[in-house]
Amino acid sequence: MKNKATNKPAVTEYADTKAQVLQRQALVENIAANGITDVNVLTAIGKLPRQFFMPAGTEADAYTDKAFPIGEGQTISQPYTVAYQTQLLRVHPGHKILEVGTGSAYQAAVLAMMGAIVYTIERQKKLYDRAMHFSYLQTLPGLHFCHGDGFEGWPDEAPFDRILVTAAPDTIPPALTTQLRPGGILVAPVGAKGLQRMIRITKGEDGQLTEELFEHFSFVPMLRGKVE
Ligand code: SAH
Repeated sequence: MKNKATNKPAVTEYADTKAQVLQRQALVENIAANGITDVNVLTAIGKLPRQFFMPAGTEADAYTDKAFPIGEGQTISQPYTVAYQTQLLRVHPGHKILEVGTGSAYQAAVLAMMGAIVYTIERQKKLYDRAMHFSYLQTLPGLHFCHGDGFEGWPDEAPFDRILVTAAPDTIPPALTTQLRPGGILVAPVGAKGLQRMIRITKGEDGQLTEELFEHFSFVPMLRGKVE
């Protein structure tokens, strides 16, 4: 049911059925079986109803471990991928985290569920607007939204303890490593379509950057400029 005046989903739509709770538990077990060991990541995914983040009418697909189209040519990331990136990020409660690519806001909500303060940027106005008016997110503290270009980061809020990029740039944007606090960690899928590799960058206390390479993934490209 939609509220016609605002086109926002009615609060009654945020129902988590017993079946969905069980499906979510099975999804978490599947992610754990695939090698995710960070209990805080698994707990957050186990608590967060992914069906709330799916386009209307597609809620039945919420607990298949797959990416899903959310409009504007974008996707809600695969739960395993969300878990993988979040585990690499080594999140602690209270961390100030910059996310590039709000999309459905599912990843941002996972980080907020883990007790982080999240600053998330989206270049597409429609997706930013949707996240801003998504009433379920108002139940999670510590989420901040920006309509902007992630290549520039969020200078007014820097430095960040953690930076998570959820669209793939060809190379790590320099503004992002600049906005990373010494001792901080950045995780991003880097490379051209079909050839992306997950990269973790750690900034030493002396400012020196160390790069580690992980598995291959498939993300939408990180594009320049914002779209109205
Ligand atoms: N984190 C999202 C995944 C979204 S897919 C989720 O949990 O659903 C990647 C998103 O990055 C898309 O919404 C895309 O519009 C956005 N994006 C791509 N390039 C960007 C940029 N330069 N700045 C901000 N967002 C960007």
